[in-house]
Amino acid sequence: MKTADIRAAFLDYFRTKDHTIVPSSSLVPTNDPTLLFTNSGMVQFKNVFLGSEKLSYVRAADVQRCLRAGGKHNDLDSVGYTARHHTFFEMLGNWSFGDYFKRDAIRYAWELLTGVFKLPADKLWVTVYHTDDEAYGIWNKEIGVSAERIVRIGDNKGAPYASDNFWQMADTGPCGPCTEIFYDHGPEIAGGPPGSPDEDGDRYIEIWNLVFMQFDRAPDGTLSPLPAPCVDTGMGLERLAAVLQHVHSNYEIDLFQHLIQIAAELTSTKDLANKSLRVIADHIRACSFLIVDGVLPSNEGRGYVLRRIIRRALRHGWMLGVRGDFFWKMVQPLVEEMGSAYPELAAKQSFVEEALRTEEQRFGETLEHGMRVFDEVAAKSGKTIPGEDAFRLYDTYGFPVDLTADIARERGLSVDMEGFDRAMEEQKERGRRGSNFQAKGLMPAELASQLKPTVFLGYETLSSQGCKV
Ligand code: ATP
Ligand code: MG
Ligand code: MG
Ligand code: MG
Repeated sequence: MKTADIRAAFLDYFRTKDHTIVPSSSLVPTNDPTLLFTNSGMVQFKNVFLGSEKLSYVRAADVQRCLRAGGKHNDLDSVGYTARHHTFFEMLGNWSFGDYFKRDAIRYAWELLTGVFKLPADKLWVTVYHTDDEAYGIWNKEIGVSAERIVRIGDNKGAPYASDNFWQMADTGPCGPCTEIFYDHGPEIAGGPPGSPDEDGDRYIEIWNLVFMQFDRAPDGTLSPLPAPCVDTGMGLERLAAVLQHVHSNYEIDLFQHLIQIAAELTSTKDLANKSLRVIADHIRACSFLIVDGVLPSNEGRGYVLRRIIRRALRHGWMLGVRGDFFWKMVQPLVEEMGSAYPELAAKQSFVEEALRTEEQRFGETLEHGMRVFDEVAAKSGKTIPGEDAFRLYDTYGFPVDLTADIARERGLSVDMEGFDRAMEEQKERGRRGSNFQAKGLMPAELASQLKPTVFLGYETLSSQGCKV
């Protein structure tokens, strides 16, 4: 089954269960200034869960474009390292707004996976929240999943929104216990079942998360019940496609193989399994869709996340031997793959190409020099790249610190992040001293008033360049 057919089959199934099919919302959330990017399907329904927005339907399904490259959900550092993580991916989702709850959510998921998609039941594992006896009972008694393949999972202390069975979109907002469905890709692949010490491997891959949205978390951490319990589910389209296409990695599915093939041609790379090709194929999706949704490369906030992703992709191209521009040329094949599902991408193709080309040319001017500097620094630094060198790469050569850390990681090195932050602080301090100097009137008042906005803006830009997103 092609990825495009899986998208359609998912929506068809939920249409027959009286769900209203809704379009994907933008990667830039319109209803939540605290959230950097749409990181799951539920984001556009957040106010519906909270009770402040009413819809004309109580069941919905969609295919949502998502980005996990900043904020609470950040998979940027997993790309190229795991078989299952992207920065940009599509999330298949179905919702109940105060209508059906645990029983039907579980039944629909099981019927779709084993009935429609014909997945062998004995390859599926499920997890439930450790205290959720109701969900456990439904899986075990009603669906018939054997106890050996149902795992109770508690809270993940320290990172309550990461791989545990209590889902939340961010530090505050709607949340609740969840049950997740995993697919066992077989003993040839390293990794243990969910809940085991080596669960982070890629053998048992989580495909679907069913969240039972019951609470609203306040900034002080307290939970209050939502007006009506809801269901929020999310299944990674690429992960499901990998299972249905009998491949292990998401990067081996039809959609990615096409992008990887083109990336290989553009970079004259023979080995299609080269990690850099995967990173480039991943990043072209993230970057193109961010630009479609109105984000442009800049030195702050969302624009800086975009800039960081573009520069990472360009560095991978450079590593493959590219010495000119290439990345923007990936937009055309992306449109061929995804333009019919996302007409907005096709409509903005030349705009996206232009934005990428401009950024590519800008960074192209310093990338090569910066890489030489990195090599010199690495040669004299031992295991850790000093913070002031990482800062110099950032300040003079436009290397975001996570890019430097990524290069370092590939070579078994690390970056002194504290030292980098200190160097950034010192730079800011110099900026502040500069503005005090003018404010104290040591400069003609008229000139100072003209300069002040510039000085202030410079400081703003610097502080946001260093922002941790
Ligand atoms: P994982 O534990 O594998 O990182 P997750 O628990 O963080 O996944 P959820 O937040 O539950 O993922 O998101 C719902 C579904 O979206 C997942 O079950 C998975 O199929 C898919 N998904 C999540 N993150 C990614 C990603 N970075 N790339 C591709 N698909 C993803
Ligand atoms: Mg998980
Ligand atoms: Mg995750
Ligand atoms: Mg999950």
